[in-house]
This record gives sequence, structure tokens and C-alpha cells, in this order.
Amino acid sequence: DDILFNLKEEHEITDVSFKTWLLPLKVYSVNGEKVIVTVPDVEFLGYIRKKYGFLLKITIEEVTGFECSVDFVVENQLPKEAASAPAGNTLITNTINPVSQSAIITANLNPKYIFDTFVVGANNNLAHAASLAVAESPGEIYNPLFIYGGVGLGKTHLMHSIGHFILKNNPAAKVLYVTSEKFTNELIDAIRNKNNFSPTEFREKYRNNDVLLIDDIQFIIGKESTQEEFFHTFNALYEAKKQIIISSDKPPKEIETLEERLRSRFEWGLTVDIQSPDYETRMAILRKKEEMEGYNIDNEVIKYIATNIKSNIRELEGALTKIVALSRLDNKEITVELAEEALKDIISPNDKREVTPELVIQVVADHYGITPLDISSQKRNKEIVYPRQIVMYLCREMVGTPLQMIGKYLGGRDHTTIIHGIEKITAEMNKNDTLSNTIEILKKKISPQ
Ligand code: ADP
Ligand code: MG
Repeated sequence: DDILFNLKEEHEITDVSFKTWLLPLKVYSVNGEKVIVTVPDVEFLGYIRKKYGFLLKITIEEVTGFECSVDFVVENQLPKEAASAPAGNTLITNTINPVSQSAIITANLNPKYIFDTFVVGANNNLAHAASLAVAESPGEIYNPLFIYGGVGLGKTHLMHSIGHFILKNNPAAKVLYVTSEKFTNELIDAIRNKNNFSPTEFREKYRNNDVLLIDDIQFIIGKESTQEEFFHTFNALYEAKKQIIISSDKPPKEIETLEERLRSRFEWGLTVDIQSPDYETRMAILRKKEEMEGYNIDNEVIKYIATNIKSNIRELEGALTKIVALSRLDNKEITVELAEEALKDIISPNDKREVTPELVIQVVADHYGITPLDISSQKRNKEIVYPRQIVMYLCREMVGTPLQMIGKYLGGRDHTTIIHGIEKITAEMNKNDTLSNTIEILKKKISPQ
């Protein structure tokens, strides 16, 4: 244990790296000067050996005063026998570089999405470990890192965490997070030379990075010119040994219309998936959220949510927020009955996603980083009016909702307001390719094929 803590302190290893890589290590045997250490998973044996093998060796030598060699074996490949006691878990906080706010904004990172707020469970531990490895050694090991999994399972959260971690270790690093939607829209602008954004500037922006994170790559699939440009961006970065991190809803081999040359490149590095969380992980995530928000919620209520909301972590969080909001609104205590009442619309017996006005509102709100309540509110700022008009358009176009009904869903607006909104979006789409692209992506999010 002393050895581990010494190592952590002297080499300024962050808590998350320490917890993930070093804390699980155990000394298996000491034979003369040969020390054998066990590693829990085979996947990261190579990485731990390369990254921490030497550090461990010199630290053991410092602490014991003897020269030694260190080797690693995988825990479950050993004959069963008592291992040494695990290290305690009082972690030492190390000095960390303060990262300037502007670096985080330039990189497009959400301050909330960091490794410290990410709960590791059986569904995501590989993706988490791979993300951390890449964050510690960008451009050196797994390039590209390809993370895939269903909606609301933590891909975006992990990507931002990688960005924050790298900036913390190296505040001068050039990190850029973008959605593939933004990449496409900026490419469209650049080709049109709009806002004085030229193709050269576009290339500079995307190729002049140490780390490029591109989220939801499935939305550029099938768009030839965007794929072409991304291909060149990828090559330029890869050849310069810059780190590329990609997320998608499917693994490369299942993306049907992906060009072969891109598919093979995506498979050059490491591909990891995130699955739906199991019950324990759902509980842990709810507890973490409760702690972060300073709520104090009865365990039975937390269990009720974890039991009934299974597939999607965003919904899990949404459920908690909704219950708290209802309790404040009605000034009622948070009980299982209140939770049942609050969640009656979310918990559906067969989990089938029908396209409804509620779903449209939910997806559009998520997309623009606002809440469904904002959409139906009386607020009139641009950041809300525009998504609200998009909701009007999509309800009409995808659901065929009657105008008066749309008005009802949107906080009691009359049908002339709705007509105006729909017309505005329709007209705008005719002259604005980036809006058409966004609408197309929203449709895919609402109703994935
Ligand atoms: P995705 O990009 O896969 O659709 P997100 O990363 O946007 O999913 O995650 C949806 C929400 O769930 C976010 O608010 C995120 O913080 C939260 N979340 C996802 N996974 C975890 C986790 N393992 N621990 C804590 N919060 C999580
Ligand atoms: Mg995402």
C-alpha cells in the first residue's frame, strides 16, 4: 500500500487514474528480486505494463531499497489462492493544474461531464478504462478510440471527461469537441463561404488540434461530401499522431452505408461499447445524482425509480428531477406514491417509443440543451423561440398533430402562432442548408430507423 501511495504522490497521479489502474493491483508473489503483480482484466494488461510498469519498479526500489523487476499477470488466470490485503481507499488529492475557463469553452466542453461524476459499472467499465487510458496518453495508444452504445448511456459524458482530463494535465493542449452535426453545418458554411468562414479556415480549425472528439458520427453517414472531408481530417490528424475519439450508436462494422475506407480506419484503434446499466449501477447513478444536487430522498423512492426505469440514464436522471419538481410544486413529501404519480407517463409497460408530441418536445429540448418546460413556457428569447418553432414544424410533419393540439402542448398557444412558426421554419429550410441538416438529424433522433 505504501508503494502505491508513494507512487501516486510522487508522480501526481489523479484520483481517477489511481482508482482505475493502481488500486486494483495486488502483489501476487515476491521471488528474490522478481515481483509479480496481478491485474483484474486482461484488456488493459498491456497498457498498465507500459504506462505504470516502470513507475512501479522504481517506486518499489525506493521504498524497499532493493533492485527489482516487476511483471504483471491477470488475476483470474491464476490458481485461486489468498492474495495480499487490498489497499485502503483513503485517496490523497494531488495538486492539479487549474484549467482556465476559456480553454474549456474553446474546447466546447460541458463542465459537468468529468470522470469524477461518471459512475463506473459493469455496463461501462471497459469504455471508462479505455477513455481514461486515452486521456492519460493521448495519441499514444488507442487511436482512434471508438465508443458506441445506445442513446443516453454516457458516451458524450465520457468524451467530455477525456477532454477535461487532457486539459488538466496539459493546459496548452488543443482539444476540440464537436458533434457531427456541427461539423457538417460548419462544412456547409465553409463551402458557401458564409460568415467569412472559408474552406481553409475550416481545415485549420479541425486539423490543428491535439485531440479531436467527434460525437454521434452516425449523423454524417450517407452524406458524401461530409464523409469525404472527415476522411481527410482523420488522415491529417492520424498522421500527425493526434488523438481522435469518435462516438456512434453502432460499431463500425454495423454501420451499413459507411464507406469502407472510413470503416477500416475506425477499426485501427480500439472499439468499446457501453451497455444499458444493471440495477446496481442504476442505483449508484441515482445516489450520485442525489448527492450532487443535494437532494435527500428516501431509499424506497430511489429503488422504485431504479426498478422501473431501465434502459436510459438520461431518463433515470429526468425521473429524479421530475419527482423533486413535483414535490416542490405541490409542497408534498417525496414518497413512493408521489413517484408513481410523477412517473406515470414515463413508465410504459412495453417500453415502446411511439412518435408523439411529447417525444418531439423531449428530443428537441435535449438537442438544444434546454428543458421541455422551457419549450412550453411563455419565454420569448431566441434560444427558446427557435427550438419551439422547430417543435411546431416537427409535430405537424412527423406526427400530423392538429394545429390546436400543438398549441395545447406548447402552453396554450393559438393556432395562428403555430401556423406562423411552421411557415417560418419551412421558409428558412429552403434557404438554409444547415437548418435542413439539423432537421434531418432531429428526425433521426426522434425516429431512428
Ligand atoms: P449518450 O451520449 O450516450 O447519449 P450522455 O453522455 O449524454 O449519453 O448521458 C446522458 C445523461 O446520463 C447525462 O446527463 C450523463 O451525465 C448521464 N450519465 C450517463 N452515464 C453516466 C454514468 N455512468 N454516471 C453518471 N452519469 C451518467
Ligand atoms: Mg451523446
